[in-house]
Amino acid sequence: MLEVRQLSFSYGNKPVLDSLSFSVGAGELLCVVGPNGAGKSTLFKCILGILQGYDGDIFVHGRSQRTMKEPELAHALAYIPQAHIPVYGYSVLDVVLMGACSGKGMFAQPRAQDETAARQALKILGLEALAERNYAELSGGERQLVLIARALAQGSRILVMDEPTANLDYGNQVRIMEHIAGLTADGYTVLLSTHNP
Ligand code: ADP
Repeated sequence: MLEVRQLSFSYGNKPVLDSLSFSVGAGELLCVVGPNGAGKSTLFKCILGILQGYDGDIFVHGRSQRTMKEPELAHALAYIPQAHIPVYGYSVLDVVLMGACSGKGMFAQPRAQDETAARQALKILGLEALAERNYAELSGGERQLVLIARALAQGSRILVMDEPTANLDYGNQVRIMEHIAGLTADGYTVLLSTHNP
């Protein structure tokens, strides 16, 4: 569960967040809606520990985010960016394995249990058949689902998603939102941003 209490943040003398308070529990989805420049990314960066120096408090599963080390935070919270076409030709399984191996050293090898976690995450999202495919050759909607699978393989129960339906056609937007609703039904906590109510 995620709780934000009286959160304020400024870039220099430009205030962006002003005494923001909310909480999202297990099985809940909170959608942050606002036009470009409203401060959605700034809020997420504070929650993810990328921006420090905020006023107020952020609690992750009841612990102050300020006291959590990077690997602990990565295990508790997974950030899901918008899907872009990557430069390298990774397979879908490799992309998801990167989530299963997060928090390990730079030269660590994935273990059998990491591959099991990655394949399980693909299965939850109905992507098993794509495991050996080239990630770069998937559709935008499929790539977004693979990034969600990567977050599940990371083992985090709180998913923070930056405009997961941006740049997708209407059918894929609905498909992604149905999967996200399915994850909350399974007890995940989801915080997502959109500029499209
Ligand atoms: P959103 O994600 O809703 O589009 P942002 O959080 O990216 O909004 O931006 C909120 C405001 O903060 C905008 O006015 C933006 O110009 C400003 N801003 C974002 N990042 C920086 C930065 N690194 N330095 C200064 N101002 C910034």
